Amino acid sequence: MLRNHFETEHNLFRDAFRSFLNKEVVPHQEEWEDAGVVDRSVWRKAGEMGFLLPWAEEEYGGAALKDFRYEQIMCEELAAINEPGFMIPLHSALCGPYIAEYGNAEQKARWLPGIIRGESILAVAMTEPSAGSDLAGMRTTAVDKGDHFVLNGSKVFISNGLLADLVIVAAKTDPSNKHAMGLFVVERGMEGFERGRNLKKLGMKSQDTAELFFNDVKVPKENLLGDAKGGFFYLMNMLAQERLTNACGAVAGAEAALNATVEYVKERKAFDRPIAHFQNTRFKLAEMRTQIDVAQVFTDRCVMDHNQKKLTPEVAAEAKLFTTELLCKVVDEGVQLHGGWGYMWEYPICKMYANARIQRIFAGTSEIMKEIISRGMKL
Ligand SMILES: Cc1cc2nc3c(=O)[nH]c(=O)nc-3n(C[C@H](O)[C@H](O)[C@H](O)COP(=O)(O)OP(=O)(O)OC[C@H]3O[C@@H](n4cnc5c(N)ncnc54)[C@H](O)[C@@H]3O)c2cc1C
Repeated sequence: MLRNHFETEHNLFRDAFRSFLNKEVVPHQEEWEDAGVVDRSVWRKAGEMGFLLPWAEEEYGGAALKDFRYEQIMCEELAAINEPGFMIPLHSALCGPYIAEYGNAEQKARWLPGIIRGESILAVAMTEPSAGSDLAGMRTTAVDKGDHFVLNGSKVFISNGLLADLVIVAAKTDPSNKHAMGLFVVERGMEGFERGRNLKKLGMKSQDTAELFFNDVKVPKENLLGDAKGGFFYLMNMLAQERLTNACGAVAGAEAALNATVEYVKERKAFDRPIAHFQNTRFKLAEMRTQIDVAQVFTDRCVMDHNQKKLTPEVAAEAKLFTTELLCKVVDEGVQLHGGWGYMWEYPICKMYANARIQRIFAGTSEIMKEIISRGMKL
């Protein structure tokens, strides 16, 4: 189905980003997969090309492109090459905005230029070993000591956990109020800030997902974003945009999985004919084609609504729920139509299957999305 919300400048941006990926990412994917982490240098290259935080103000080095379609394009192109480790959307569309939105002038001047140049890689640390969906249940604390806070606790499953130079850490600031938390920017090298192992995962092999530990870390007051008790609200506020990036990537991932499957079933023969000619194959592919088109129209509309600041948390949750469930269905059918070869790592559909599964879990599980959507229905 033809999409009609991109204009010439978006198409040019897509061409430039695609050539960048083909030159600087695709040749290294296997090597990064084996290493369990992408090479730092690719972040700096992306920064030089203007692909990090393109929405940021020019005074910090951004291009002031305040149009979510550019973020959408990057999510789509990364999904199309099936690169889960080089998480530009996490850096640009999730972490960067916390600093731009809740940081003061001094903090923005201090951090944004390096972030935009790809010299300071970002992560956000909310999840803890005993609290994920229930963020208010986190145990990490930050105690006010006058000119600094003392941070204690640990986080788990943190994307960019090893590479990150600046980690936005959520921590409780008032024992009498479980929703009182602050967002603290913890910098590489701060005393008491330790990183654990690079966690072994089902998929996303090139992504460094790690545990982080904070033992009496002295965080200067200048590293607190916004209000020391407002962090929970800040997190909730940003999650809608994060969920939209998930949706953009999930539809593009489903499209890539469908394309890979279509190619395969046209080539592969069984019972003297291409498997594409079996009615079961054609019907499965037709169902996927239809569902992806429907999901794409909905996601594109969400992007345009978001540009006008009209995307509600409920509709962002619908987008994430529908598209990530669809992605998982499509990769599963894709593996099935590849037969045994679909289970082999050398086939793209196998990696797509492994990479997709997390999409229904992180940035809020499908069940949490249903909670958010149903809350909006005032049942
Ligand atoms: C690869 C990877 C990368 C990640 N990256 C980051 C990151 O960068 N930063 C970060 O902070 N976190 C990150 N996470 C954490 C992720 O967001 C959490 O894993 C997720 O929110 C779920 O939390 P949990 O794992 O504690 O599961 P739990 O909250 O323990 O949930 C377990 C099950 O219970 C269900 N459940 C929980 N509450 C309810 C409810 N109220 N109603 C119905 N069902 C419910 C859930 O849906 C799920 O099925 C990452 C995780 C992974 C695996």
